[in-house]
Amino acid sequence: METTDPQQNASLDSFASVYATVFANMDQGFCLLEKVHNSAHHPSDFRYLMANPAFEKHTGLSEVVGKTIRQVIPQVEPETMALYEQVALTGQSTQFETYVAPLDRWMEANAFRISQQPTQIAVLFTNITERKRAEEAQQVSEVKYRTLFETMEQGFGIGQILPADEQAGVPMDYQWLEVNPQFERLTGLARADVLTQTTRQLVPGLEETWYEGYGHVATTGETVSFEAYSPVLSRWFEVYVFALGSPASRRVGVLFSNTTERKQQQKRQALLLKLADATRSLTASVDIMAAVSELVGGYYEVGRCGFADVPPPYDHLVIDQDWSNGTLPSLQRVYPLSSWDEQIISQFRSGQTVAMSGAVKQAQSQPQAGELNQAAASRSSIWVPLLKEGQWVASFFVQDTDNRSWTEGEVSLLEEIAERTWAAVVRARAEEALREEYRRKDQFMAMLGHELRNPLAAMTNTLLVLELTQGQDQSLPYAKGIQMLTRHSQHLTRMVDDLLDMSRIRQGIVRLEWEVVNLNELLELTVEDAQPLYRERNRQLSLALPAQPLYVRGDEARLAQVVMNLLTNGAKYTHPQGKVWVSLELAEDQAILRVGDNGIGLTQEERTGIFEVFVQGATSLDRPHGGLGLGLTVVKHLVEQHRGQIQAFSPGLEQGSEFVIRLPRLRDLTDRASTRQDEQAYTSGRVLVVDDNADFADMTARLLRSKGFEVYTRYTGAQGLAGAESLRPDALLLDLGMPYLDGYEVCRQIRAQVWGQAMAIIALTGYGLEADQQKAAQAGFDGYLLKPVDLGTLAQVVAEGIHRTKKH
Ligand code: ADP
Repeated sequence: METTDPQQNASLDSFASVYATVFANMDQGFCLLEKVHNSAHHPSDFRYLMANPAFEKHTGLSEVVGKTIRQVIPQVEPETMALYEQVALTGQSTQFETYVAPLDRWMEANAFRISQQPTQIAVLFTNITERKRAEEAQQVSEVKYRTLFETMEQGFGIGQILPADEQAGVPMDYQWLEVNPQFERLTGLARADVLTQTTRQLVPGLEETWYEGYGHVATTGETVSFEAYSPVLSRWFEVYVFALGSPASRRVGVLFSNTTERKQQQKRQALLLKLADATRSLTASVDIMAAVSELVGGYYEVGRCGFADVPPPYDHLVIDQDWSNGTLPSLQRVYPLSSWDEQIISQFRSGQTVAMSGAVKQAQSQPQAGELNQAAASRSSIWVPLLKEGQWVASFFVQDTDNRSWTEGEVSLLEEIAERTWAAVVRARAEEALREEYRRKDQFMAMLGHELRNPLAAMTNTLLVLELTQGQDQSLPYAKGIQMLTRHSQHLTRMVDDLLDMSRIRQGIVRLEWEVVNLNELLELTVEDAQPLYRERNRQLSLALPAQPLYVRGDEARLAQVVMNLLTNGAKYTHPQGKVWVSLELAEDQAILRVGDNGIGLTQEERTGIFEVFVQGATSLDRPHGGLGLGLTVVKHLVEQHRGQIQAFSPGLEQGSEFVIRLPRLRDLTDRASTRQDEQAYTSGRVLVVDDNADFADMTARLLRSKGFEVYTRYTGAQGLAGAESLRPDALLLDLGMPYLDGYEVCRQIRAQVWGQAMAIIALTGYGLEADQQKAAQAGFDGYLLKPVDLGTLAQVVAEGIHRTKKH
């Protein structure tokens, strides 16, 4: 480019030197390229005409001048070469970023044509690999954090603190700028609302501590972590708050998890532990119930909590233990179940918990709701029924004033607690009953000694006097002495009878001799028998009978004993000139027998307790009336054995008492006739007794004959089998343990025959194990009697067996 003008040349020289300096010192890489002539066989290429010192720094390549690009970088990207071609051809300068794979470098370059000729181009470039890598790394880490942010279990949010404007009276607030998806789930707040509203707008009433906490972090730059409950959100949170950026930016990062469940679990665990401690360390059932009610009431934060019993006959509910936090009155009372929603009662009976929220119930139960409904249902409550052998016997409940709704967790926890603590209450009650029985027994033994000694002392004295005076003394003539002895010995006998009866009844071995009993006759006779006692004691006894006789099926002697016991009590627990009246009435299918008096009456406690064994009213050893406290227990057992019921009534002490017995009656004479026939059938029929103990077999046969049966005996299994076939008895009494062919086998073989199906086969054996009985039942026995067996039972079982087979 030299000119002919020397001045111009001089200035050109100085330009050249400037360029040369720039060229040598510039930071960018530079090269001048000339297109190499290409042929069809050679791909396009460029030769380095010039490269500045920085070229080497940026590319790592040296001494390139004179070489072509392809020589220097054989793997050069075709795209780059094409681009250079393009620049050379069009003269359009091009800026680009490219990754030069063979050099493993990123370049930012500008290619431009240097003259008009389409052969030379220059490239200015910079190695931007480091920047690129940093950018990439940044990108990767951003993706990483984004992913973490989106997927992490914890909630995360970036909050902007909005400082208070004291002049305008606006308190400090904050606004979420960004929250992750978990934020929504853990707080229960919708993301869209969270990002568009300030917290005061979003959660009105949120506790101030949250604002203070976040504000503190934003202004001080401190990092804090804490666990706190938000009553407004009803959740526990574990929170980690840190400042983001400078204090001026007023931003905080909040990382948190919802620990409600864990907290509840801990609280629950602590409660169960406390309950276990309470139920373990306390022995009195009332103490256990009180402790449980208080702990549970406190835990559920309810107004009232307690236990309710549903005692037999399961038609009323007794709340005698409840805890209240003072906002609700105690519910302690007896409530008839009829005063409660039938539907609720049937849910309880089927073992279902009922959880109700006050508002709903109120609407349903107004206005004619019964008292229990009123008391229980106007509240939010959970009632857990407790069943014993399928029978609803008690409930555990919590109640609150608020219209509170219950979570599934709360209901199921209460069920668990009810189940566990009720078991402890039942255990404690059983122990109490046992202790009480021991106490009563001790008391009873002391009294028994006393009671037996009284008539004995009187008898001994009478005997002594009689012996001394030979019956000559006027004050105690012989006849009077005998009379006294008789009376005292009768008294003794009665006590001993009561004792024996009691123990037999308690062991369940009293068998009734069933027959048709005319209650009118029975009452007449018994009242007549009691009159001498009443005359002697100066009491009056009256009887009112229906015109038509009433019949029941029962044991005449036992029923008479029942009435006599009540009449004896009547004479004992009335005052001189006192009155006792007996009446009989008909009510549908029941005979109602009442024994009333105007005597000392009963307290409420006595009314429920007196039927229990050894219980006596206001006991003292110095009792004027005598008696062992067994009479009513015997009465109750006997009445129940007759499928009847007995109840005691009294308005209170000194206001008389009434004992009411209900017995299922025989409807009419046809009933009676059919029963007569049954009775007939009962004592007729053919019986075969098979036992290898011949004496036993013979004796059994004799006894059964005395009852009217037609009886045969055999002494081996084989004979028994043959006898059964030829005699075809209605009933077969079969010993189990016999040599050769035992009772099981005989029974099996008989049952295999057509004629052996209807026969009543009864085992009569000394083997009493449950397994033996099962084996017998499998072999085909209908009944099982253990030796020795009393005649009554024997006859009854045989008769029932025959009766059954005849019926089929
Ligand atoms: P005992 O008469 O031997 O004490 P019972 O079992 O017959 O035993 O009666 C139990 C208790 O019931 C009596 O001790 C008494 O307190 C009460 N009792 C029974 N009958 C009457 C009655 N007609 N009036 C008042 N109390 C009665």
